[in-house]
Amino acid sequence: MKAVRLDKLLSGLGYGTRSEIQKLARAGGVELDGAALTDAAARVPVGPDLPDRLKIDGRPVDPPPGLVILMHKPLGATCSHKEDGALVHDLLPPRWRRRDPAVSTIGRLDKQTSGLLLLTDDGDLLHRVISPKRHVAKVYRAALARPLTGREGAIFASGELMLEGEAKPLAPAILEVISPTEARLTVTEGRYHQVRRMFAAVGNHVEALHRERLGGLALPDDLAPGEWRLATEAEVVAIF
Ligand code: URA
Repeated sequence: MKAVRLDKLLSGLGYGTRSEIQKLARAGGVELDGAALTDAAARVPVGPDLPDRLKIDGRPVDPPPGLVILMHKPLGATCSHKEDGALVHDLLPPRWRRRDPAVSTIGRLDKQTSGLLLLTDDGDLLHRVISPKRHVAKVYRAALARPLTGREGAIFASGELMLEGEAKPLAPAILEVISPTEARLTVTEGRYHQVRRMFAAVGNHVEALHRERLGGLALPDDLAPGEWRLATEAEVVAIF
């Protein structure tokens, strides 16, 4: 297990500057395995059980770096750190905004798209999920303004559909018809507004869009819009 200096660990988790952490430790605000840890330079073993072992002001410390968050993104929240209005990052504890490495969304969903969103501070994992070479399937459910014509499935599967303003055709995608105005679409790329633009390219309009799945990982039924939890290792493995 990796051991990290207490002040470095806690400042990276957003608990304050190194000198603030030193003061906190000296004042008895940090406990490791039930005993006060007053030396901020002490090395702390950092593993998944850290929150069980390390308490800050009597509360379990935040999860150590290497976290993956499963979120049910609600409609109206933006996948950005910077914009005005409701942000998906506001759904997480405020201290988590100060984490270094920072927690970022793995890809993005539009403001008016709901569903499965992953966030992580693990840059390698982020790139593995979004890399076009990995072909991680993204499954969306779309409600459409007009009835499907029956031709969309073949057009999307062709690998020849060009989106406006792009130089390369889309990779084949799979359409499953749910009702005349509802479809499930599986894509392996993550181009800007891809699903909305695909339906626009066949003369339709997406009225509502929801991501159900990323690779083998489905949005858990028990996560209501706006709710999130840490992903288990098995869930992260299931993505690929
Ligand atoms: N495609 C879209 O058009 N929007 C999303 O949010 C995701 C995929």
